Formats: sequence, C-alpha cells, structure tokens
Amino acid sequence: MGSVSAADVRGRVEALLAGWDPGAEPGEFLRARFDAGLAWVHFPVGLGGLDAPRALQAVVNAELGAAGAPDNDPRRIGIGLGMAAPTILAYGTPEQKARFLRPLWTGEEVWCQLFSEPGAGSDLAGLGTRAVRDGDGWVVDGQKVWTSSAHTARWAILIARTDPDVPKHRGITYFVCDMTDPGVEVRPLRQITGEAEFNEVFLTGVRIPDAHRLGAVGDGWRVAQATLMNERVAIGGGASVPRESGMIGPVAATWRERPELRTPELHDRLLRLWVDSEVARLTAERVRQQMAAGTPGPEGSGLKLSLARLNQQLSGLEVELLGEQGLRYGDWSMVRPQSVDFYGRDAGYRYLRAKGNSIEGGTSEILRNIVAERVLGLPAEPRNDKDAAWKDLPR
Ligand SMILES: Cc1cc2nc3c(=O)[nH]c(=O)nc-3n(C[C@H](O)[C@H](O)[C@H](O)COP(=O)(O)OP(=O)(O)OC[C@H]3O[C@@H](n4cnc5c(N)ncnc54)[C@H](O)[C@@H]3O)c2cc1C
Repeated sequence: MGSVSAADVRGRVEALLAGWDPGAEPGEFLRARFDAGLAWVHFPVGLGGLDAPRALQAVVNAELGAAGAPDNDPRRIGIGLGMAAPTILAYGTPEQKARFLRPLWTGEEVWCQLFSEPGAGSDLAGLGTRAVRDGDGWVVDGQKVWTSSAHTARWAILIARTDPDVPKHRGITYFVCDMTDPGVEVRPLRQITGEAEFNEVFLTGVRIPDAHRLGAVGDGWRVAQATLMNERVAIGGGASVPRESGMIGPVAATWRERPELRTPELHDRLLRLWVDSEVARLTAERVRQQMAAGTPGPEGSGLKLSLARLNQQLSGLEVELLGEQGLRYGDWSMVRPQSVDFYGRDAGYRYLRAKGNSIEGGTSEILRNIVAERVLGLPAEPRNDKDAAWKDLPR
C-alpha cells in the first residue's frame, strides 16, 4: 500500500467518467466505479479498491461529486458499508468477498445486523440463539431484537451459539444469514418517534450453509469485535466534515434566522455546545487519521459517546429555543423508513430520535467502561462468569 498517488486516483476518475455517463442509470455507474477500484480505495484490487491510502477516498469523492455522479446512499446501506464490509474483508473467504462486497457497496443488497437479543444486549456474549451443525450447514433457532433495516435487508451478519458447554465468549460463531430464507420472520417494532425503523426477527429452523460462516467455528466473538469496533467508528467517524455539520447545524441556523427566540441563558448554552461540537468534530478527524494509519481503537468509543451526549443536548436546546413550535410533532402514522433522516425532519423528530443515540451501537455506560479500562487504564469490571460454561450461567 502507499504507491498509489492522488494523481493516479484522479487519472482513474477521469477514465471512469470518460467511459460512463454519470447521468445514466445509477446502478451501471456504481458497478463500473466499483470495478475501477474507486469504491473504497483502501480495499484490495479486485474488491472495489486500489490498495491505496484511505485518505485518497476524499479525492475520489470530491471529483465524482463535482461531476454529478450518483451516490450509493450510505445512509440506507450504512450497516453493510460500515460493519459487514470491513468484517467480510478481514475474515471472509475469497468466495465470500467476491460474492458479497460488490452488491453491498452499490446498494443493490442491503445488510442488517442480527446481534442483540431480548436477554443479551450489552452482555452480547450471553446470547442464546443456537446454531446446530447439520451436514454441510447449520440450523439456527432463536430471537433477535432491535434489528435496524431488517425489513429492507437481503443479508444479515448474525452471531449464534454453537457450543453451550464452553465459557460464553468461546462458544459463538459468526454467519451471514439470507433474510429471504424460510424461517426468517421480521416483525416491526414502533419507536418513540412513531416510526418502525427496527424490528424483532424470529429465526425458526433457518438453514445456513457452512460456506456462509465468517471465521472459524467458535471464533465468532473475535469476529464480532471487528464489527463492533467498526460500528462505533461508522457512527462517529465517516468522511471529513465541515464546521457546523451534524446536530449543531440546524440549531445554529435557527439561532441566526430567528433572533426573536433568543435569551441570554440560551445564548450561553448554545455557545458551550458549539465549542463541544467543534471539539467532537476535530476528535472525529483524529479518529479518521488514526484509521488511515492503522485499525480502529477505543477512541471510536469515546467519540461515539460524545456525539450521543451532544445530539441529545443540542436537540433538547433546539426544542426549548423553538418553544411551543418545538413541541409540535406532525405525523404519528406508522412509517417504515429506509434510513434515519435527522435533518430532513423537524426539531421534535430530532429530539425524540436522538434518545436512541445513547443506546444503539453500545450504550453510553458501556462506552464509559471501555474508555475507563482501555484509555485510562482503570481496573476492569469484575467478571465472575468468565470461566463458567454458558449453559451453567444464571439467566
Ligand atoms: C435505534 C437503535 C437501533 C438499534 N439497531 C440494532 C441493530 O441493527 N442490530 C442489533 O443487533 N442491535 C441493535 N440495537 C440494539 C442495541 O445495540 C442494544 O439496545 C444495546 O446494545 C443495549 O442493550 P440492551 O437494550 O439489551 O440493554 P441492557 O444491556 O439490558 O442495558 C440496560 C442498561 O444497563 C446498562 N448496563 C448494562 N451493563 C452494564 C455494565 N456492565 N456497566 C454499566 N452499565 C451497564 C446499560 O448501559 C443500559 O443503560 C439498536 C438499538 C437502538 C436503540
């Protein structure tokens, strides 16, 4: 890696634009972009990349954006891009990489994450969904919950217990589950916003071929760690962002456009949150640069923690600033959205949806534990279930 320059990447973008009209059918263009190695430049050649430094992706995105090239809609396919793809890249077989990465990146196949269960959220390693070996495959039975995008997903990353006789972290295996298979049932769950962006998923006798296992049997916890680290960075990181991006944006805009709403006390709070937002933005930039240099670390957890707190404080301030108008919430009809739309909606929606930010992708309490143990080096929480077989744990 590293021999590819910004000029090389620009040359490839030019060649792509010479061969493919960005105004034509988006699928065609996106497939050609993947094949040109311009999907995620740091991925290997043949898998949507060029083995190039990750920082050059910004060059590609800027050039293609300026040419009006179609987007693969990262908000709709965020779980695939942010979590499934890096996990498949790290642990997948050559066949799995060749099968899954291209339609994942183009957005032709949406992914979801079947991790959480009614009795296993923060203590994810305690999960009870069983996968039992059956010939050249596995039979899976269990229940998952809070599964974002399960209603639009073609594939899922799934963790299941394959050995109840060993300690909980050691008896888990990681699979790719076909959401169209018989035995997969998706039921909507309504959120505080009134929408059903996530689901319960019931798995009854679902057959998964062994070729859809990711990593070794019993090694699923390690594979899941790769997903979870990337999840926090995907939530907190992403592309380089300009000042006043994110939740501070709409609040600062309202402040500027509606001087009649201002009070000295709100002014003071807004200024403090503006500074915190700028600190978070620069921290995100640091995480991005660390990622470019290596792998995601506990900094991603710290960033995700700050952004969750900021989103809740800022959306609360926005509702207060707008007074009665901020309390209005237009439509409680059941909607099955394809992505979370923080900015195309009103302040009331932002306020309600931001509550989930401190739960999804690891709760703030758990992230504080990670920062305490892995950044500050404080003593770890006592773990008296570490050596006991999963089947003997109280539940
Ligand atoms: C909007 C949204 C989308 C989601 N999407 C998905 C998805 O697509 N796929 C998926 O698999 N899951 C998803 N989740 C689930 C999410 O990952 C879990 O809700 C989360 O991990 C917390 O687990 P839990 O709900 O079981 O809470 P619990 O683990 O039961 O926690 C309850 C409370 O206790 C605290 N707590 C627990 N253990 C400790 C500890 N050791 N120290 C201190 N405090 C502790 C928690 O922080 C929390 O406040 C989503 C959740 C939300 C809100």
